[in-house]
Amino acid sequence: MIVQAKVQLRIPCPSCVEGGWRADHLTIGFSTTWSCQECHNEANIKRVSESDFEVTPNGRKETPVVVTLQSITEPKITLKLNAWKYAHSQGDSQEDYESHQRYFYDEHTCPTNWTREIVEIIFEGDHDPHGVFEFVSVVNGRLVDSPYYDGMILEEPKTDK
Ligand SMILES: [Zn+2]
Repeated sequence: MIVQAKVQLRIPCPSCVEGGWRADHLTIGFSTTWSCQECHNEANIKRVSESDFEVTPNGRKETPVVVTLQSITEPKITLKLNAWKYAHSQGDSQEDYESHQRYFYDEHTCPTNWTREIVEIIFEGDHDPHGVFEFVSVVNGRLVDSPYYDGMILEEPKTDK
């Protein structure tokens, strides 16, 4: 089989050598700001031609934060997340930032969006609570988004005939 390779545009981060951004979807003349996944500096980015981008570090930076969440169950399960305070939130007062974060975690975002950031689970004072989540079942397949907006549905593995 012969396949055609795809060329993907990637802009290197101007503040470090490791990071960068995929840029195929930016149209010529469009500008935006992105933070680097590696060094966490933010840059203003503008596509100026088919192959050229104007990339300027803007002096803002994401900074590490530790977020503590608590389940609404009884007894409560406490979670600690390593997360990032966005560059555009750096000027917020602590009170405003906490209020925005409370809205984000309590109402806005699905818990599956931040579970990968969990670094500690605490249950009744135990910081290594083996068994706090008990095994229930295992089945073949993958959960996929339901078209009826009611959670996930099981998709059976495809079998070759
Ligand atoms: Zn970088």
